[in-house]
Amino acid sequence: MPEATASFDHQAVGVDVGGTKILAGIVDAYGAVQRQVRVATPVGSVTALADAVAGAVSQLTDRPSAVGVAVAGRVSGRVMTQSANLNLVDAHLVDALEARIAGECILLNDADAALVAEHAFGNATTADDVFMLTVGTGIGGSHIVAGRLMTGAHGGANEVGHMTVKPGGRQCGCGGLGCLDQYGSGRALARYARSFRRREDGSEPIAHDLAHAAASGEPYALAAFDKLGRWLGLGLADVVALLDPEVVVLAGGVATAGDVFESAVRRHLNAELSVRGVHYGPELVRARLGNEAGMVGAAEVAREHVRNMTVAQREPVA
Ligand SMILES: [Zn+2]
Repeated sequence: MPEATASFDHQAVGVDVGGTKILAGIVDAYGAVQRQVRVATPVGSVTALADAVAGAVSQLTDRPSAVGVAVAGRVSGRVMTQSANLNLVDAHLVDALEARIAGECILLNDADAALVAEHAFGNATTADDVFMLTVGTGIGGSHIVAGRLMTGAHGGANEVGHMTVKPGGRQCGCGGLGCLDQYGSGRALARYARSFRRREDGSEPIAHDLAHAAASGEPYALAAFDKLGRWLGLGLADVVALLDPEVVVLAGGVATAGDVFESAVRRHLNAELSVRGVHYGPELVRARLGNEAGMVGAAEVAREHVRNMTVAQREPVA
């Protein structure tokens, strides 16, 4: 085995490009972050973005074998086709990065990268078919089958936040009406909490405060989580109908509320499945890797890429 590959198997470079910050790190084969750097995300320019990512990577290593780059946007092959957070459309990011970095770059969506990390090192290591439901300010989804990310023909698969759960319902940011995002997201949870408190003071209770309030038995907080769980249970029952995943990982800022969130989702998912005559369902687990999941997953994808390339190169030529 070539020396460079042997060392790369041990350490890989992953980058997580978020709306405000870029996190780049060297990650070992056990998913532990050895070194990391953080820089601000330039928004609206693919050139400036590629400069910033390459600059962050160069602080870690001169010659990466490959770099996994997770972005807050839709990805199709070497192109980030759409990102509201980064204010870019059809950004040829891999071309721009490979002009600046002495190594191959692999681009993927950040939620997909987080699922790769959970599947490799987190709470979903034993399952073959894993769906991740990310509930933060908005709602996201990712799906791995037999170790392979299922991203769809155009990189648009698993957009559970934009499934219609209430035809003609609330206007969604995507342009549609009645998307799950409008009823099952952190924004919706805050709305429910305010409504149950019967006050409109404009403050946005965050999940931790609400989780604390729910743990203290505050009726408004318990009711808010229950209502959120009802919509997410409905959405997840549709996910089960379509994909029948073995495990569903609950991730995102709202999921960090813990038991109160998880039990509400489980209760309503089970009730909805029962109504539909479905007597099986996924195991629900919590995400374990937190804010570093995107970077760790991106590094793991880079490591896998190099490993596969090496195996392919070793195949005897007929
Ligand atoms: Zn929508």
